[in-house]
Order: sequence, then C-alpha cells, then structure tokens
Amino acid sequence: MDSSKEILNEISGHQYPFFIAGPCSVENYNMMDKIVGMLIKKGINIIRAGAFKPRTSPNDFQGLGLEGLRILDEIRKKYKVKIVSEIVDAKYLDFMLETVDILQVGARNMHNFELLKVLGRTRIPVILKRGMCATINEFKCAAEYIVQGGNEKLVLCERGIRSYDNSTRNVLDLSCVAILKEETGYPVIVDISHSLGRKDIALAMTKASLAAGADGIMIEVHNNPEHALSDSKQQMSLLEFDRYYNKLVYSYDTVGGVW
Ligand code: PEP
Ligand code: MN
Repeated sequence: MDSSKEILNEISGHQYPFFIAGPCSVENYNMMDKIVGMLIKKGINIIRAGAFKPRTSPNDFQGLGLEGLRILDEIRKKYKVKIVSEIVDAKYLDFMLETVDILQVGARNMHNFELLKVLGRTRIPVILKRGMCATINEFKCAAEYIVQGGNEKLVLCERGIRSYDNSTRNVLDLSCVAILKEETGYPVIVDISHSLGRKDIALAMTKASLAAGADGIMIEVHNNPEHALSDSKQQMSLLEFDRYYNKLVYSYDTVGGVW
C-alpha cells in the first residue's frame, strides 16, 4: 500500500520533511500567539500543544482541557495553521473534531484499545505514539486497531523507550524508524523532545532521525521554557529553536537536499 504519500500530503501540504512544533501544553492564549507567530515565520504551520496532559503525578498541571481546545481553535483561525493535540478520552472526540486537525494518541494510551477503535471509526488524521515500553510489534498491532476501523490516516511516532540509562529521558530507537518505514506503509515521525528530554543533542538526533528515514519531526518550543507548566527542561526557547532550525536547513541545503 502506498498510502504514505497521500497521508503525508494531506498533513504536511507537500513539505518533506515536515515539522510539528509548539509547546508541551497550551497554557494561555498569549503564549500560543507568541510561539505560533514565530513558527509561521520559519514556515512551520503544523502546531502541537496539549490541552489534556496525562501527567505522572496528579499534583502536576493537568492541562486546560476544553478551554485549551478553544484557545487552539482561535489560534488556528488567526494563523491558518493545523493543530495537533492529544486525545485522552473518547468523550472529548466530538469537541476535538471541531477544534483540532490532527489527533495525537500519547505513549500512555497506545495500549488503550477501546480509544484506538473509536479513532478507527473517524476519518481525522491520527498520530500514534509508541508506548514507552512497547515492542515494535506491539506498536504495529496498536496501529492495526485504528486501521481496521477504516481510518488509514495514520502517522507513527517514535518517542523513545524506557531503559536503564538516564543520560536521556528515554532511549531514541532509530531502528524502529527504519523498520516501520520498511514494514508499514505509514509516515513515520520522531518526537525529539520526549525521546531526549534535553536540547543540547537535538540537532544531531534530528539529523540522525531523518537519515534513518523519518518523514517528519516533532519538537517542543515554548516562549519561556524555564517557567513552562510541563516539560520545562526539554522545551526550546524561540531563540534556541530559531538557531536549531537554521542550522538544520543550512546542512540540508549544503548536502543538496539530502539530510
Ligand atoms: C506529548 O507529546 O505531549 C506527550 C505527553 O508525549 P508522550 O505521550 O510521548 O509522553
Ligand atoms: Mn511534553
């Protein structure tokens, strides 16, 4: 099946590789306005931001919920961007279909088969993230739950797996990218931020991901990372993102369009 190109075109508007950037969480309108205002100047028009945040501790910021989705809807109307946001419960589906363009299933919900079946009955593009302890085969089976419902608009996202080494937040498994490209017909992206949990090696690992065959990159960007309500260590400031992206585009240009 070569649905991969069609899905990519629908999501990225013929941009290869494509970028999904934005904050970990939508915190308020003004921060979204600042971040998206900068990202569109770099040509990035697929914006990520979580309204529902599945946090390890119930005492941590849980997201703005429906209010967050309303903010994202305002932002997408103002800037004509596409919005990616995580769905954590099927009861929010109807409202999310009205307010976002692409649904994300987070690592913690990759095994939530009832949610996957519900998404299989929709026709909205879905980014399915690999569970933090999921084998590649389990990841492919989770994807199958969506596809069997009839929704082929699927993007697979490697976001690192849990291991013993705490130098990075997770271990970015690039063989997963190559294997999924080889064995499935779906676009594959790499979430640099949640894989690494740090910014200093983001550029190197972005290049490595693209060399392994990734079709796109997801990355967290915040206007004031030190005070972010979630994942403050891994989010790039606007300036850091600007530098990272310029270096990436420069290396792309100098090697003649090959990453
Ligand atoms: C996210 O992308 O906001 C997120 C929570 O990531 P993951 O599900 O990969 O941990
Ligand atoms: Mn995050």
